Amino acid sequence: MRSDPERLRFEITARDGAARTGRLHVAHGTVETPAFIPLATRGSVRSLAASEVRDLGYELVLGNTFHLMLSPGPGRVAELGGLNRFMGWGRAIITDSGGFQVFSLAHGRVADEIKGRRGRRSGKGSVLEIGEQGVRFRSYLDGSEQFLGPQESMAVQAALGSVIALTFDECTPYHADRDYTARSMERTHRWLDRCLAWHEGQGPRRQAVFGIVQGGVHEDLRRAAAERVSAAAVDGVAIGGTLGRDKEEMRGVIAMTASHLDTEAPRHLLGIGEPDDLVEGIALGMDLFDCAVPTRLARHGMALAPLPGTRFRFDVRRAEFSGDEGPLVEGCPCAACADHSRAYVHFLSRAEELTGVRLLVLHNLTYLERLVRGARQAIQGERFGDYRQAILNGVPPWRAAALTPSAP
Ligand SMILES: [Zn+2]
Repeated sequence: MRSDPERLRFEITARDGAARTGRLHVAHGTVETPAFIPLATRGSVRSLAASEVRDLGYELVLGNTFHLMLSPGPGRVAELGGLNRFMGWGRAIITDSGGFQVFSLAHGRVADEIKGRRGRRSGKGSVLEIGEQGVRFRSYLDGSEQFLGPQESMAVQAALGSVIALTFDECTPYHADRDYTARSMERTHRWLDRCLAWHEGQGPRRQAVFGIVQGGVHEDLRRAAAERVSAAAVDGVAIGGTLGRDKEEMRGVIAMTASHLDTEAPRHLLGIGEPDDLVEGIALGMDLFDCAVPTRLARHGMALAPLPGTRFRFDVRRAEFSGDEGPLVEGCPCAACADHSRAYVHFLSRAEELTGVRLLVLHNLTYLERLVRGARQAIQGERFGDYRQAILNGVPPWRAAALTPSAP
């Protein structure tokens, strides 16, 4: 690990078992952890203004290298003062490497299904060649030929001006066999070295870099990757790739990976963010989470809710809600629940009114912000075990935070 307080300083403020709270000091501010990171894929959190995302309490968003390099392009964003200024955000931004998206073009939908993430629909986009230098592919926007490799990814992220960049990696899908996963991981490690060499010479002085641990579900590979990335000159570690076929295997893979990581460095669990996964990830010592779930669910008329039996969500478009005067979730402090009924959101969602998506995004992001905020309070009060159990049992975050008794 590298220790350079000008780029990043991570202060662990409390521990409760393996769970911890911390403060991540980066170039554009401070992030309280554990934190959920909304996706600002194309420079916006779906349907919201940057000021609304700030008002929800978020301190960090994730921009997407793959989409922003294709349009409006890193040069244009740099001319306009970088992504932060371009989107009027004013707080910290992490950018992914684009590796997940270019390899999704190649690996198809299996990995997306397993991780509950949506890859780029094929359209015009397709992979032409994967090699030691990177990936040659066709843009889904105009069919133009593009290339993304470790140096190119770091150059795009430098132009975007994020405060945390991720190194370029291959996200191996669950269906890849052990041999492929091992060879891919070795290449990802060579790419790690190239990313860091490029960044050392040409990267923004105050941009931190997180290395990515791959290795699929194989314990020896995860261990090798965790040790290799921890030994590199990175400022933090992200855990990527397939984490297994179900949630139980996922917990096992996270636990075995975490056991080989530097305990003092920030840890980002990539692409994970359902309510139960958040409390389980926090229990295993993860600090940062990003996920498409809150915004993607909103697009499909789904609200997050304390419903463990239905994956913590319900479909507000269902007929039974057409005359329901109650809020999406009783007691929820969000703008949608404060002023509007399920019947109204039901009607807007069925009519495909933009306001319906907006209200659901506001609700879903409020729900997850309250969940991680409650987790931070519980860890500081040494009662995270009770908080976690309450969330898993279907208690809403704001009540779980208030119900679990404080430590004496
Ligand atoms: Zn709400």
